[in-house]
Amino acid sequence: MAQITLKSLAHTYSANPKGPEDYAIREMQHVWEQGGAYALLGPSGCGKSTLLNIISGLLEPSDGDILFDDTRVNKLKPEQRNIAQVFQFPVVYDTMTVFENLAFPLRNIGVPEHKVKSKVYEVAEVLELTEQLNRKAKGLSADQKQKVSMGRGLVRDDVSAILFDEPLTVIDPQLKWKLRRKLKQIHKQFNTTMVYVTHDQLEASTFADKIALMYEGQIVQFGTPRELFESPKHTFVGYFIGSPGMNFITPELTDRGLEFEGQLMPVADKMVAHLRQSGITNIKLGIRPEFVHVWTEANDDAFEVTIQDIEDLGTYRIMSFRFGSIPMKARLHEDQKVPDKKARVSFPEQWLKVYADEYLLELPHE
Ligand code: ADP
Ligand code: MG
Repeated sequence: MAQITLKSLAHTYSANPKGPEDYAIREMQHVWEQGGAYALLGPSGCGKSTLLNIISGLLEPSDGDILFDDTRVNKLKPEQRNIAQVFQFPVVYDTMTVFENLAFPLRNIGVPEHKVKSKVYEVAEVLELTEQLNRKAKGLSADQKQKVSMGRGLVRDDVSAILFDEPLTVIDPQLKWKLRRKLKQIHKQFNTTMVYVTHDQLEASTFADKIALMYEGQIVQFGTPRELFESPKHTFVGYFIGSPGMNFITPELTDRGLEFEGQLMPVADKMVAHLRQSGITNIKLGIRPEFVHVWTEANDDAFEVTIQDIEDLGTYRIMSFRFGSIPMKARLHEDQKVPDKKARVSFPEQWLKVYADEYLLELPHE
């Protein structure tokens, strides 16, 4: 088992890269601590598989180093790195039985047969494959094959890490939920470092203690699901996490402060002063629908907005409205009253986040 450090890591598939946009991984520093349950979350094409393949050794990075504890492993082959990797689609030997498939990684490193047997039974039990152990893999359904594939990743408990690349894609939803919890259970039991790639935020937050959110070849935030929700470090995190995502407006910096549609936004004086001084022109304000305050009556902090739609989602409702010309959303409790056409909303200062050049601006506390 090992701590995995990525040092000034970058990767391009292009023979003569011209700029950052030609890099699948833009220069990054990152540490996966020993024993953590991590998710690597991001939209399709952001570089998740590339990063995973660099860690496992299937791909050599264009720049930078991969360290397992203090050892540089750039030149080591996947087998030498002692890593298990589970892919999106099943990798099984069709002509072997399920038992032989699961035993393969163990027999390969010379584990004594009695241990092979007990370990295979243990993993088969967890994945509910016991009844299939003597069947040839060829005859299995796609999701059974994928379970075998996962089992092959899980049988060895001496690996440095187990990497999962969207492993539940071909699994049906019911089983998906179950397997995700199983993985979590397995992680607790063996305490192996696990990195789980997915584009699904729910999947990421049920599995992982910490999520690395990737966007355009960079990890834009690494934190607990709660940190990503409450304090998105980048506008993309605000947009990608949550359902619906964060609302954004583009205010104007005037003599009065930050104004939007002629209204003064509740932003601390210190922050406004900082923005004036810095000369930053790309300023955005973000607030999550959960934190938009909806009032039934007028008050000094509230802005009048036009309601467009109210969507009932069972235990809560989503109110879509226009603030000036900008569409925004607020989350309402089940029984919260709202008027017909016009509503009054306010943005609590604590939850109205300031973004400068897409990154969260935080001023040190005094
Ligand atoms: P993800 O797994 O997040 O969907 P990938 O790591 O597969 O993203 O891809 C990141 C970027 O690198 C994408 O723009 C993709 O088109 C490109 N890419 C991936 N694999 C290759 C390859 N073998 N050759 C060239 N470009 C690739
Ligand atoms: Mg991928």
